[in-house]
Amino acid sequence: MIKLLKFLKPYKWLLVAVILLAIGQSVANLYLPTLMSNIVTNGIAKFDTAYIGRMGIWMVLVTLVGAASAVVGIYYSSQIAVGMTKLIRAALFERVQLFSLHEFDQVSTASLITRTTNDTTQIQQVMVMILNLFVTAPITLVVGIILALNQDVGLSWVLIAILPFLVGTIIFLLIKAVPLFTKMQVKLDKLNLILDENLSGVRVIRAFDRISHEEKRFDAANLEVTDLAIEVNQWISIMMPVMMFLMNISSLAIIWFGSIRVASGNLDIGAMFAFLQYAIQILLSVLFVAIVFITIPRAEASAKRINEVMEIEPDIFDPKKPKKTGKMRGVVEFRNVTFSYHGAEKPALENISFVAAPGKVTAIIGGTGSGKSTMVNLIPRFYDVDRGAVLVDGIDAKELTQEELRSKIGFVPQKAYLFAGTVADNLRFGKENATEKEIEYAAKIAQASEFVSKMPEKFSSSIAQGGTNVSGGQMQRLSIARALVRKPEIYVFDDTFSALDFKTDARLRQALKNETKNSTVIIVAQRVSTVMDADQIIVLDEGKSVGIGSHKQLMKTCDVYRGIVSSQLSPEEIAKET
Ligand code: ADP
Ligand code: MG
Repeated sequence: MIKLLKFLKPYKWLLVAVILLAIGQSVANLYLPTLMSNIVTNGIAKFDTAYIGRMGIWMVLVTLVGAASAVVGIYYSSQIAVGMTKLIRAALFERVQLFSLHEFDQVSTASLITRTTNDTTQIQQVMVMILNLFVTAPITLVVGIILALNQDVGLSWVLIAILPFLVGTIIFLLIKAVPLFTKMQVKLDKLNLILDENLSGVRVIRAFDRISHEEKRFDAANLEVTDLAIEVNQWISIMMPVMMFLMNISSLAIIWFGSIRVASGNLDIGAMFAFLQYAIQILLSVLFVAIVFITIPRAEASAKRINEVMEIEPDIFDPKKPKKTGKMRGVVEFRNVTFSYHGAEKPALENISFVAAPGKVTAIIGGTGSGKSTMVNLIPRFYDVDRGAVLVDGIDAKELTQEELRSKIGFVPQKAYLFAGTVADNLRFGKENATEKEIEYAAKIAQASEFVSKMPEKFSSSIAQGGTNVSGGQMQRLSIARALVRKPEIYVFDDTFSALDFKTDARLRQALKNETKNSTVIIVAQRVSTVMDADQIIVLDEGKSVGIGSHKQLMKTCDVYRGIVSSQLSPEEIAKET
């Protein structure tokens, strides 16, 4: 919680205003009983109507000042709390944007979402409360006691007798309720996780007929949260009646014993009323202090979860003194690259070396899990290599800014993803200011024009989040078009053509050839037909490069390649190609 207070910085003047207003409010509240006491002793007792009138107006003014300070104070403290949580959310989002894929492997998406929304809201609610009470309650407590004693020391034993009960009840409730709040947060997280899994996996759950199982799982988690909430609220709800009881008892005692003292002439009746009012204000402020104490642990749990995210140091960051690339355009080089995923037993890639040059097509082929995607993910520096280096235009990728590096690359991931928005919006991800012509042209090359023109509003048709309203192959083609719009120096296609039928695949690659004449093209594929005419083919097997060369060369030298070829092509086709 303390660490999050830095987000209050921009609001320091508002904070000063809130403190001043809180002082104003406390002073007004504390002044009123004294005024009333004066009216009773000097006005009513002496039948001085003019005095009563004057003091009455004065009381109204003081009340107005108090009320106005309270209203403006709450307004400002809400502004501070809301503003602060806005900054926290922004900081969280910014931090998450810095994460490399390693960090996303580490914290679940569901948890990141809960932390950015639910936990920040908790902080906000508690901040409003704290800002409203942290000045007024202590002032009222201390000054109230002094003023009460000032009115009559003889009655103060009533307060001394009642306060231990009050404080005792509060401490008892704190001990009971606070651990429950912490538990609550954990249970809420679990509930969120189940909900998130259910929403993302809805198709699988339906297909495997697991609805009733999932319902049971959700009900169980839901019930846990409910039971806990009931328990917490039971403890909290005891608080109010006990407080009212203690307050009424003390009022009764003050009036009872006060009236005896008034009758014996030791106390003015006005002073007795003032004392009564002070007593109530004191007891209330003890209650408010208690509320602050109850809510802080609740915010603390959320603050801890937020700080956890803030404190994850991303693996990948920009160099302090980034280098600029020179005249070269799009040369990609792997130099003895070895890479392992965190927690993996053996490296996903071992000692890979090759150069991909502009104007040439480099293909990567290999079985599932052989490390093809891992390899191309190292080019835009989604992960950092463990040993060796990935060089772009002769410079280690780690020495370029991520922005410069990635601006050179048109990346088409294996798992195509489209964002909610129109078709054109999605293609403009590649280049923000792309003209309509450029977009249509890219779509044409990517063999997407035909189905886009059949969509109800062509390029303005909307795409659902995650691209669920287009087919896999259509999504692939749009994501290829997105890369084409960028006209990058380096194209990376990760298994992009496997969702297309052979004819479209061939047509697309033909159209691409012209487009990518001067660029470096890296194609990951499973089909021999896709890679056959590449300038160089890298054959991967369990993370190792077992052959590099043209189709002809590899057919002569590489067993693994021959194996792949003979499993896909007929002997006649093989004979024709070699
Ligand atoms: P390919 O694209 O050739 O099918 P990948 O590069 O996706 O293969 O995977 C290579 C190996 O790395 C596999 O054994 C896979 O299990 C592992 N792997 C892939 N992604 C991750 C990840 N995010 N965390 C841990 N291991 C991974
Ligand atoms: Mg792959």
